[in-house]
Amino acid sequence: ETTLPRPAQTRTFVIANQKGGVGKTTTAVNIATALALGGLEVLVVDLDPQGNASTALGIDHHEGIQGTYEVLTAGASIAELAQASPEAEGLWVLPATIDLAGAEIGLVSTPARESRLLHALRDYFLVRKPDYIFIDCPPSLGLLTLNALVAASEILIPIQCEYYALEGVTQLLRTINLVKGSMNDQLYLSTVLLTMFDGRTRLATQVSAEVRKHFAEQTLEAVIPRSVRVSEAPSYGQTVLTYHPASAGAQAYFHAATEIANRGVVAGEERSA
Ligand code: ADP
Ligand code: MG
Repeated sequence: ETTLPRPAQTRTFVIANQKGGVGKTTTAVNIATALALGGLEVLVVDLDPQGNASTALGIDHHEGIQGTYEVLTAGASIAELAQASPEAEGLWVLPATIDLAGAEIGLVSTPARESRLLHALRDYFLVRKPDYIFIDCPPSLGLLTLNALVAASEILIPIQCEYYALEGVTQLLRTINLVKGSMNDQLYLSTVLLTMFDGRTRLATQVSAEVRKHFAEQTLEAVIPRSVRVSEAPSYGQTVLTYHPASAGAQAYFHAATEIANRGVVAGEERSA
């Protein structure tokens, strides 16, 4: 049963922030699962050699399992290598293995090295038309993240409400504008999500107000609270949505996913990034 609106075309999100530990992977897997639980078809591309998104979605990604590495370096097919996640019907995962750590260097001498993922996704669209794609990036602005920025159209930046939260974002926005100007004019910052929010600290409240001022259009109303349930879920190969659906963390991610689905795509001139 589909309870969320289906977009007219596939919406491809890159979850980016070159800072590690800000909730990129947690956001990618939870939003993707929430949309799939809402009846939509969703593909998660794990582009981080750590494979944390694969783990959280219950997907085996030990050495020898084929996935993102083979797609980027050997032109393997996403349709053949994507695995169904036990988290939700309609949720597919292209897993990452540690091999992917070598791709950053291995790709340097490859032709069209920054658009390998884009071409692989175009081939995938001939076979399947998912409603949403989420690309989970490593914490750096290297060739893997560049492939994601070239392949995606929407950017979702998770921001942890801490000191210097906005400083890293400034550098990311510069990179986004470079990619937009030279390799992908479709790219725009559609969504900002406040993560790991601790309402007891004044700092968190101040930073969130600052982020909302800076990204008034893009920041979701939903705020993800810091919650033990959220951080425990991956060790069970689950997202918090199936591990503890009633928890505050799960409810916040359901809310965020619903907002994303209901907002739809912003028309050209209204884009502000
Ligand atoms: P990134 O992908 O940006 O490196 P992660 O999503 O892996 O960040 O999150 C970093 C760590 O914080 C992980 O251990 C994760 O389980 C934990 N975490 C993420 N979101 C929350 C949250 N809302 N509450 C508590 N822990 C969280
Ligand atoms: Mg991560």
